[in-house]
Amino acid sequence: MNRKKIEYLRFLADMGEIFIPIPNLQNEKRNTSTELSDMAEKRAFSAASLNKESAEKQDTISADKKKKLLDEFYHQIRDCTKCALSKTRHKFVFGAGNADADIMFIGEAPGGEEDLQGIPFVGRAGKLLDRILAAARLKRSEVYIANVLKCRPPKNRDPLPSEEEMCLPYLHRQIEIIQPKIICCLGRVAAHALLRTKANMSELRGQVHKYRNIPMIVTYHPAALLRSERFKKPTWEDFLFLLDELKKIKSR
Ligand code: SF4
Repeated sequence: MNRKKIEYLRFLADMGEIFIPIPNLQNEKRNTSTELSDMAEKRAFSAASLNKESAEKQDTISADKKKKLLDEFYHQIRDCTKCALSKTRHKFVFGAGNADADIMFIGEAPGGEEDLQGIPFVGRAGKLLDRILAAARLKRSEVYIANVLKCRPPKNRDPLPSEEEMCLPYLHRQIEIIQPKIICCLGRVAAHALLRTKANMSELRGQVHKYRNIPMIVTYHPAALLRSERFKKPTWEDFLFLLDELKKIKSR
């Protein structure tokens, strides 16, 4: 069984899948223990490489300064009333995570639970994202997560173009402060907003885009995985792609 298959099975297991297909090992020629050892090595890289070593950082803004700037920015915009969503929101959802993150995940907009708690990705889709992150050996505390919109659209409808236009400058500023090494858009809404494109997901996935010179990849929103099992495998492939790209970026 090749490494990709083993990785995917591990991903399914980490995501809490109960029914995992049992592979046919009869015709397998490779030594599985060797593959598992390779995989462990790769996993170890993922965890180790994502630990922040200040000496490795080439950012012009220190981690402390980024945190301070983000805090100040949050207080500047948390009472925003630029669009009508300010009237229906319970809580403004700024973003959360490591201000000095290598990876920034960007979703669409807060959902019901996020609106109540003021924290991004804490509902069902958020819990699934946590499991995907864990399967990729990433901790929420070492990445940064934000949305295109900071306030919940009623009934979780798609953001209106006018809402995106008004809210996007906030996300641009967050990215400017955090200076992630790579951005991962979760779903087409985030990708369309940041890349100014209408391309579909199959066109957007599997390649490295650029947002203001920052590498960016696109994968499915976790909510899509809740709707259909068929998005799990491509999402896992996108996460492996993300980790590989980050590895390349950090080795330059
Ligand atoms: S969605 Fe954005 S622009 Fe609209 S009120 Fe909320 S923070 Fe302001």
